[in-house]
Amino acid sequence: MTPRPEAARNDGGVSLQRVCVFCGASPGGRPAYLEAATALGRELAERGIGLVYGAGGHGVMGALADGALAAGGDVTGVIPRALVDRELARRDLGDLRVVDSMHERKALMHELSDGFVALPGGLGTFEELFEIVTWGQLGLHAKPVVLLDVESYFAPLLAMLDHAVAEGFVRPSDREPVRRAGSVTEALALLEHPAKPARPRLVELDET
Ligand code: AMP
Repeated sequence: MTPRPEAARNDGGVSLQRVCVFCGASPGGRPAYLEAATALGRELAERGIGLVYGAGGHGVMGALADGALAAGGDVTGVIPRALVDRELARRDLGDLRVVDSMHERKALMHELSDGFVALPGGLGTFEELFEIVTWGQLGLHAKPVVLLDVESYFAPLLAMLDHAVAEGFVRPSDREPVRRAGSVTEALALLEHPAKPARPRLVELDET
């Protein structure tokens, strides 16, 4: 699997064709989570950036897709066959990819996307987020990863990352690429102008 090269722009940034968003299948306890998801979906669509996500129709995932589709966005949903009914996979996506396993889902989301955003979510969101961060640590990719910190939802997680660095379990160079954004606009800016990759891509996913 060969990742597409990121197109450099003449202002030093990266041209994003598609961004993958990890987020909750549940709505969470605050309207702000859904509002931020809808706003992110809309902003991606208005900038002509394709959205890649888990294809779910409920919760934060549903709000994200609503925002993108209402603004005429290009949305790709990737979902394992076994979850199509359970997660109410949306049939109104321009591109719905039904795959055979969770592993295939994550590999395809990674392959299709130029960068990653995490919105508030639960264990599935954490798992997807940390897998993509650890793939970066291994040198499988050098794509930007941004946590959209709605209502400071990710503050304990960001503090845990800093604690892990302070305690010598995570290298500062592996913590550094995980960026926090306080708004949709800031998240897009961080994706388009990522920090210098901690290290060059060393291996391909299918080599591991
Ligand atoms: P959650 O954050 O738990 O609401 O889940 C959000 C999304 O993550 C859902 O689409 C889940 O199917 C997905 N998910 C849950 N577990 C995993 C996993 N192990 N790998 C990839 N995606 C997962």
